[in-house]
Order: sequence, then C-alpha cells, then structure tokens
Amino acid sequence: MKITFLGAARTVTGSCYLLEHNGCKFLVDCGMFQGNKALKNNNYVDFPFNPGDIDFVLLTHAHIDHSGLLPKLYKNGFKNPIYTSTASVALLEIMLPDSGYIQEQEVERKNRKLMRAGEHMLEPIYTAEDALATVPLCKGVRYGEEFSPAEGIKVVLQDAGHIFGSAMLEIFYEENGIQRKLVFTGDLGRKDQAIVRDPYPMQSADYMVMESTYGNRNHGGDAEKEIPIFAEVITKTVRRGGNVIIPAFAVDRTQDILYLLNEMQLNKMIPECTVYVDSPLAIKATEIFSRFPDYYDRMTAKLFKEEGRPPFVLKNLVYTASAAESQQLNSIKSGAIIISASGMADAGRIKHHLKHNLWRKECSVLFFGYQVEGTLGRRLIEGEKQVTIHGEEVEVKAEIYNMEGFSAHADHDEMLEWLHGFKHMPGRMFMTHGEEESTVSWAAEISEKFGVNAIAPEHGYCFDLATDAAGEAVVHPASIVHPEAAATAADAASDTARTLDAELLLEINADIQRVMASRDVDKLIRLRDYLRRIR
Ligand SMILES: [Zn+2]
Ligand SMILES: [Zn+2]
Repeated sequence: MKITFLGAARTVTGSCYLLEHNGCKFLVDCGMFQGNKALKNNNYVDFPFNPGDIDFVLLTHAHIDHSGLLPKLYKNGFKNPIYTSTASVALLEIMLPDSGYIQEQEVERKNRKLMRAGEHMLEPIYTAEDALATVPLCKGVRYGEEFSPAEGIKVVLQDAGHIFGSAMLEIFYEENGIQRKLVFTGDLGRKDQAIVRDPYPMQSADYMVMESTYGNRNHGGDAEKEIPIFAEVITKTVRRGGNVIIPAFAVDRTQDILYLLNEMQLNKMIPECTVYVDSPLAIKATEIFSRFPDYYDRMTAKLFKEEGRPPFVLKNLVYTASAAESQQLNSIKSGAIIISASGMADAGRIKHHLKHNLWRKECSVLFFGYQVEGTLGRRLIEGEKQVTIHGEEVEVKAEIYNMEGFSAHADHDEMLEWLHGFKHMPGRMFMTHGEEESTVSWAAEISEKFGVNAIAPEHGYCFDLATDAAGEAVVHPASIVHPEAAATAADAASDTARTLDAELLLEINADIQRVMASRDVDKLIRLRDYLRRIR
C-alpha cells in the first residue's frame, strides 16, 4: 500500500490522501484548504492525479476541510462511489451545494473587479450544480459494518465522536501474504460531548494516520466548567442591554450550542431571551439531526424520548432563513442571542452581525471552535482592537470570549489517553491535520513515548508501507510557496493586485515550478536567495 499526503500535511485543512494498492487507487477525504490566501490557492490547482483513475473515496466526515473538494473531483472526471456514514450523506446533501454556492459568489465578486481592471476572469472551483451532481455518488454505510469497496480491500467505519456522523476508518488488506490494518483517525472527538457518542476505543492497527490539531497543547478549559461561564456571559450581557453574538459552524456546533441553551433554560441559569439561528444551512442541519436519532448518545436519546423533541430544538427559537429576515436582526439592540455562520467569522451572515455589534461595549461575542490562522475569528480571540469587515474599519469594544472547552477535537492529553487504549500499537504513524509545530512535536513525542516510528509528513510526501520507505514526492505546485511568505507578499501588494491574488499566485507557482524542474543548481540558489531577501 502506497500513501501520498495531498492535504492537511503540516497544516490543519485540506485533508486528502491518495492510496494505491494492487492497481487500485482510492482517496481518503478530499477536503478544501481554508485559512490564508496562499492555503486557499491550493484549491484552484489541478489534482496531482487523474480524478478519472480513482476507484472510490472513503470519507471520514462532512466537514468541508474533509469533503469540500469532492465536487471538484467529480467535475474533473471522478464518477465512482464515495463511502461514508449514512448521517454524513444527509449532511453532504446540504453542505456541498452550499459550498458550491459560496465558490460561485466568491468568484463573481472577484470577477467584477477583474472585469473593471480589464483582466481575464476566474472560474469557480466548482458550482452548486457540480455539487448537486456529486451527491448521488455518496453511499451511506453504518458504523461497525464491514464492506468491500474493491477486491482485496475491506473497510469498517467506527464512530469518531467528533461531529454528527463522523467516522474513523479501519482499512484491511493483504500485502506479501500478510493481513494488514491501516487506520485513519479522521478528526478525533472527545468524551462526554453533547449529542454525539464517545470516540470508538480502537485497540489495534499496523499503520495509522492520526490528526494532531491539539498535538502540542490542551484545551484552555473544559465544557463542564465553561457552561456556568457561558450562562453568566448571557445573563450579564442581556442585563446591560447588549446582544450575544455566536459565530458557529452551521453543522454540529450550532446544534451543540442549542443543546446547551436548552439545558441552561431548563435549569433557569439564564434569563428569558430569544435565540435566533441565522443560517439557512444550520436550519437544514438541525432538521437532519432530528431525523437520525440512531446517532445520538445515551443522554440525547433519553431527552428525546422524554420530551418528544430533540433537545436542540428549543421552544423560543427563531429561524431566519431569508436575507431580509436576517437584515432585520441588525435593528435588535438588546436581549438577543444570535447564532450564525461561519464559525471562524471569515464569511457568511455572521460578518454583518459582528459589524453591527462589535463596536458596542455592552455586547458579547463567543467563539466555540478552533480558529484557523488568518481568519477574523483568530484575530478577535488574539485581542485585535480594530478589524476590517466588508471594507469598513470596525472598533472592537464588545467582550470577546474563546470557549475552548467546547472543542470537538480531542486535545493533547485526550489523544494520549485514547492511544493508551491500544493493545497493538501501530508500528508506523503519520501525524497530520495540525499546524506545523503541533504535528512535528506530536510525532516526536509519540515516537519517544511509545517507541513507534511517527513522522509529520510534508505536503506531497509519498510513503510505501510495504517497503517502509519514502517514495518520490509528488510536488503540488501551490505548496512550494510558503503560506506565510505568500500571504505577506500578497498583503503588501496594492489594492488592484490584491484582487488578482489567485491568478498571481498561480503564475508565481508556475515560474518557481519551472526553475525547480530545470534542476539547474545556479538558478535554484538564485531563487532561494531572492525569496529569502524579499521575505
Ligand atoms: Zn472535522
Ligand atoms: Zn478537520
């Protein structure tokens, strides 16, 4: 079995692995890169393989950083099955078209500027239509049920306890007459989260690809302790006449927060206030969550049975589906809890709510999820006092809270605890899905603690599990430009140039690629020196 790391390698987003075994080629995840411009630029670059040659895809969960490039794969010739959990299929039906729509809008905005500048136009990575056409390829599988997507390969999905429908993968195959088991943790969840069950206690693997979002640190708090803080923030914000703004991922995180609000209301921990869910996607996701009670943990199933409604469907909940309804929320000055997407505040309706409430000191903003570098959410939790939203300078006077305890990812100690449950530790481990420092230190720590060969592969790195040796790296053009260097260069550019980012970066990448391919040492040294100078 050969594995090539094509995303989430020393970065968090863009999960994608190419696997090759006995002439069969398949992918695990096909996610979108999110965060700064250089990272996002990877989404525009051609896949370093022919999508038409891929026999199937195994998908860990519906988050866009794992599923978001499936429609691009389809658009470029992939027409085979995508296996994932039944709940994930339902979520993909709404999430992929939504992502397609976002791509179309983003490019439309850029094209208006390009047209005025007389430049040629960009094409969206994919459209909502491409996404809709991708959905029928998705095949729902139940946790714990073995299936065989290709001859000689058997797969079992186990509950990852990360988000609704999330799975870790057990892949069984034979190599040189020996049975092997390769595990992908996907995003690893945590114990005692609302709605979802605890992560499956895996006990054995020969090889494992493991996430490392929190490879070098623990969560700043824990959910149990933060619930009273959450209640107190709501109470004091409402009393001083402000609104509570919650940027939240539409899928899963919004439902978790609704679950907590329900609990706080039942226990009279917060005053009466109206909860607005301002995200058409979150509304649809809540409806899907209601349709799959099989996936609930014991507590959620119990509450569902007792109350005859899922505990994330509140009585005083107002859904605002249309843009007009959403705009009306701008005139509410106090007493509202507004939950809207995106969770990192870098797109979507939440930006309007932040624009209208950030400058007011009586308001509060609460973040409940991981904030990727370069996003508005990250800048706010890092304490920036002035931010730009839709081209307007906005002063940050509202109170900002980072509710780290509610992360859907296992932290450093929780991942260690999960690993201690193994009876047969994998001999080879690959640490991915984390920022550089986190993946590297996590790999070093695991190597030392468990005496296994753990590494943090770089983008394009290829490894043959059969020979236990690295193969020839597949260079993904956009990865050559170091994200930070490219972002700094892009930020320093003039306003006009700024709108050309995607194209400009592609050109720079192509030029660098040519120099690399020439293998001309003199040219390579000159290129290195030049890049160092301008950094
Ligand atoms: Zn995830
Ligand atoms: Zn992820």
